[in-house]
Amino acid sequence: MTTDHLQTPEDRLPEDASDHQPHQLDFIAAPTTIGELATLRGTAPLDVIEARVQIVETLRRASIRATHPEDWLLFKAPDEAGGQIVGYLQDAGCDRVRDLWGIEIFGIGRPEKIAGDQPGVFHYVITGNGRCKLTKQTVEAMEGGRSSTDDFCKDRTGADLELSVRKAARANLDGNITRELAGLKAVPIEEIERAWTGTAKKTAQCRHGRGFGSRSERLGAEPASAPDVQAPKCGVCGALSRYRPASGSRGAFYGCPNYQKHADRKWTMDAAKWIEQAKKTAAAAPAEPATREPGAEG
Ligand SMILES: [Zn+2]
Repeated sequence: MTTDHLQTPEDRLPEDASDHQPHQLDFIAAPTTIGELATLRGTAPLDVIEARVQIVETLRRASIRATHPEDWLLFKAPDEAGGQIVGYLQDAGCDRVRDLWGIEIFGIGRPEKIAGDQPGVFHYVITGNGRCKLTKQTVEAMEGGRSSTDDFCKDRTGADLELSVRKAARANLDGNITRELAGLKAVPIEEIERAWTGTAKKTAQCRHGRGFGSRSERLGAEPASAPDVQAPKCGVCGALSRYRPASGSRGAFYGCPNYQKHADRKWTMDAAKWIEQAKKTAAAAPAEPATREPGAEG
């Protein structure tokens, strides 16, 4: 939390000067400033500061509570650096918290298309400003961007691809502004867990990013030790499963890449059993060639 949250009401933006009526209905109907909320608790300076801190903390907890596990990407510091895990609120999650903070996005520029270094690859970048009506913080000339090679672009071509990348770039701009103004770029996992106490949401359901295994393993590629056998399909959702090498006392197995989507119906296949069965089948008739890329199901 920065001291920007402790700005005095005098720092409010000029265009907002007329929108405040210190009336109870106004306070209920629309987010007012933290300074104004804090003075509802008393006017002694220390009371006001204490009240502001509490309001920001309450808002943070309410924001995290409004998000879902799939909205977060977890990052882990290297073990030698302490191994701390922090959550990054992704763009879709930012949509759920923006109104709580009264965050407005304005002064949006035109999306700019940038050609990539490979034929057919392109990026869109878009700039804009944001302000938070509650904290009175503003951010200017923020950037958002997306690339035609991003995951969500799979199977999209032509105008559909163009529009998707442009829309996602805008969503990324909104996300960047919201993360910055609400301080949700790197939230300690313990704080997320505390906010989800009493709900069914678990950080174990969050996706893993940098710091958890290699990039290709995170994206779903088979680890180098994967056997040369077509993986079985998940018995619950039908997705092509992934090989998981043995670890400790647990033997190698195949797991579903979408296991978080059906956490209540677990499915795994013992690797030794599957490989033995697959080899028998292959001996009887040539197996279908694997045409799907690992990670391409959806
Ligand atoms: Zn599955």
